[in-house]
Amino acid sequence: MTHLTEHNLMKFNNLQSTIYNLQSTIYNLQSTTHHSPLTTPHSPLPTPYHPLSYLCLMIDCIVVGSGLAGISFCEELRKNGKTFMVFDNDSQVSTNIAGGLYNPVILKRFTPVWKAEEQLDTALPFYAALESLLGEKFDHKIPVYRRFTSVEEQNNWFVAGDKPGLSPFIETSVHHFELPGVEAPFGYGRVLQTGRVDTEALQKAYVSYLQDTGCFRQESFQYDRLQVMNDRVIYDGIEASRVIFCEGFGMKKNPFFDYLPLNGTKGELLIIEAPELELDFVLKSSVFLIPLGERRYKVGATYKWKDKTNIPTEESRMELLTKLQSFFKGPYEVIDHVAGIRPTVADRRPLVGQHPEFSRLYCLNGLGSRGVMIAPFAAKQLYQSMYGQQEIVPEMDVERYRSKYQSTVSG
Ligand SMILES: Cc1cc2nc3c(=O)[nH]c(=O)nc-3n(C[C@H](O)[C@H](O)[C@H](O)COP(=O)(O)OP(=O)(O)OC[C@H]3O[C@@H](n4cnc5c(N)ncnc54)[C@H](O)[C@@H]3O)c2cc1C
Repeated sequence: MTHLTEHNLMKFNNLQSTIYNLQSTIYNLQSTTHHSPLTTPHSPLPTPYHPLSYLCLMIDCIVVGSGLAGISFCEELRKNGKTFMVFDNDSQVSTNIAGGLYNPVILKRFTPVWKAEEQLDTALPFYAALESLLGEKFDHKIPVYRRFTSVEEQNNWFVAGDKPGLSPFIETSVHHFELPGVEAPFGYGRVLQTGRVDTEALQKAYVSYLQDTGCFRQESFQYDRLQVMNDRVIYDGIEASRVIFCEGFGMKKNPFFDYLPLNGTKGELLIIEAPELELDFVLKSSVFLIPLGERRYKVGATYKWKDKTNIPTEESRMELLTKLQSFFKGPYEVIDHVAGIRPTVADRRPLVGQHPEFSRLYCLNGLGSRGVMIAPFAAKQLYQSMYGQQEIVPEMDVERYRSKYQSTVSG
């Protein structure tokens, strides 16, 4: 069941959907009288309990989450002819509301993003392939201009542009141009190889594609209904070789991977309409101003470490407006305000790889504030390690937290 054509894959998934629906109905009827054993990471593995397990169809992977991580991993599976089923419950919105920028330079410190070149080499063809698969444009290749606030910043920019890791991404000249409502006496520096992926449109189109191919369940993945065996897993009548958890900040509720140090950083963005400003580039000053077309812009973002809800706050709105007005004096109107939790990690590296004890379980998480660039790279690494082609870069591998897991289990 590993190599299927696109057409056969669709037929297979539709058949599987029908069987799954039948199983779920019978299972739900039976569960009113039948108490199912639970599987938790720290309890003995139960024997298969599903009363209709003989009807199970074997698939390659269950994927939990359809954000950038889930989409990127599904694409690895699809390209390699693997069968899969995706679950999503809309509990996290990071991908849906993100600014969508990809930018290989950290513009606060003028340092390169970790493995920027490798990330871009994977990400750009990845989004191009999705555009042809889904027949829609997602990757808008627009420049990013950093507004300088002093001569010192200009000098730091020149120095940065001469550094080996940064020279492909920094244009070492200072640009001067007029923008209505924006003063910039020290000019701007241009970052190269940047763009914006419309992550909201991408997620919508991809989920719709998964639904059409019968690979998507709009529901919560219930961890206590997962049976993990040495050679496979069973979940509500689906038998799979592996489960890949791509839940973003939702992973905090996952009893298998909750030992990992996923912190979560709340971010908020405003959408404004500025009738006199027509930018065809991203402007970075104290906040990003990201053009969406028709003189609408995303303004953001904030970073908050305590509040873990997806609810926009007045405090962040004021913070964003104060920062915007520090460099933009033109008229505008706020038309929307969104919030989400970035899946951030203390050491700023993704959480990718196999569970230390349950070899059928994997996670793809910790994409932080740069999911657009890093998700395709991390997904590819995970896929290749899973199928024995290459090991995961150690800095991203969850193996680095093995001792944390051991102390959690023994404690
Ligand atoms: C305000 C803001 C601005 C940002 N701007 C940028 C930017 O400009 N550029 C950039 O690269 N990155 C940006 N990011 C970061 C980016 O959004 C993330 O890195 C990325 O989207 C994370 O993707 P993910 O798939 O890991 O998580 P998510 O997008 O959170 O997706 C996880 C999915 O799993 C689902 N899920 C969770 N638990 C369960 C469960 N039990 N059952 C079923 N489904 C479940 C959720 O519903 C969700 O759909 C921004 C983030 C924020 C908040």
